[in-house]
Amino acid sequence: MTALEEFRTKARAWLDQNCPQSIKGPGGVPVGGKKLAVKDVDAKRWLDLCAGKGYTVPMWPKQYGGAGLSKDEYLILLEEMRRINARSPLQGMGIGLIGPTLNEFGTADQKQRHLPPIARGEIRWCQGYSEPNAGSDLASLQTRAVADKDNFIINGQKIWTSGADRSDWMFCLARTDPNAPKHEGISLLLLDMDQPGVTTRPIRLISGDSPFCETFFDNAIARKDDLVGPKNRGWAIGKRLLQHERSGIRILMGGAVKTAPLKNPFLQLIKTYGADSALTNQIILHEMRDKAYRLTQSRIVAESVDGQTPGPQSSIMELVTAELEKEDANIKALLRGFQGLGWEGEGFTEAEIAATRHYFSVKRRSIARGSNEVQRNIIAKRVLGLPD
Ligand SMILES: Cc1cc2nc3c(=O)[nH]c(=O)nc-3n(C[C@H](O)[C@H](O)[C@H](O)COP(=O)(O)OP(=O)(O)OC[C@H]3O[C@@H](n4cnc5c(N)ncnc54)[C@H](O)[C@@H]3O)c2cc1C
Repeated sequence: MTALEEFRTKARAWLDQNCPQSIKGPGGVPVGGKKLAVKDVDAKRWLDLCAGKGYTVPMWPKQYGGAGLSKDEYLILLEEMRRINARSPLQGMGIGLIGPTLNEFGTADQKQRHLPPIARGEIRWCQGYSEPNAGSDLASLQTRAVADKDNFIINGQKIWTSGADRSDWMFCLARTDPNAPKHEGISLLLLDMDQPGVTTRPIRLISGDSPFCETFFDNAIARKDDLVGPKNRGWAIGKRLLQHERSGIRILMGGAVKTAPLKNPFLQLIKTYGADSALTNQIILHEMRDKAYRLTQSRIVAESVDGQTPGPQSSIMELVTAELEKEDANIKALLRGFQGLGWEGEGFTEAEIAATRHYFSVKRRSIARGSNEVQRNIIAKRVLGLPD
């Protein structure tokens, strides 16, 4: 038996023995953190068991809470998790964004302090990038961080900070040299959200949800040893973090396994609501695009060196995911017809009302991680090498 075959046998046995039945198939995946307890007992048990084994972040080094798996071992683990349709134990910006960034650029002390709690799902992170006048043009950000003895003192405002009111720590881009050209005076800092200098104000959406906040810094403190990379060189590191966010393989790389796609997610809807041939054609084309996307995703992982997230090509994955998710919701709304317009009231089932809200909420996908126009600009300039 080769070493990889042996690994598969052991991983399969461990999964069969430990994955709770209710974790197999669609369902919620914990984001972790101190502020929201994981209510689902099985999800909590699954998280703790996987964390103990290093399987929340399988490719991270063991000393930082991972399992130290090679890429090939990791791909086998993914296959074995898919075989039993196991959900991932943990998701979020810790394992997906700042974790990989610290693995790449963090000091030994930063890795030791921050990575193990991320891997155990103890700390939830949020992303302090966008500001009222700095979204697509992120380098225009004005939040200031001034060095003072052992700390940076931060003043300014962020906006659209997802989960800020439920997060424990933030990774934040701030201006540390206002006189330098705009891309050159920015630093990436880590700061504790539970301090008097940080206030969050949830932004309410039309759906009634508040997935993100305005975040205000009023002499907020970040320790100097929580500066990631050199001072004033945060732009390049902050951009690299965005590549982890956009690659669409962070789900795989971060250890969060998507459940196997349903055989045909549209079939039940067609049975209930019917579909004419034009709509059926749309579904077939969508399914083909989705399949091509998933295969590309797997190929990127298989071809990547040491499981590294790709560079600017990650914008292609982000663009396609956003389009596919919107197309999926659009087709489902068309299938439901009038029943796909339910906002409230007795004429609609709970599932139909939820689907309408999902249809609107998914519109955010082509803005949230950098708009589709911005992704196209990156692809044109950085992948295809077209002139500015
Ligand atoms: C659901 C959601 C969650 C988010 N979570 C976070 C978060 O956790 N942390 C965080 O920091 N930010 C977050 N954001 C903010 C997000 O990154 C910004 O909304 C995004 O970068 C766009 O910035 P903006 O909203 O300021 O729009 P603008 O930059 O003002 O853009 C407005 C329009 O102009 C277009 N445009 C702008 N510049 C160009 C150009 N050069 N070429 C072509 N078109 C252009 C854009 O495509 C867009 O259509 C989130 C946003 C959403 C919707």
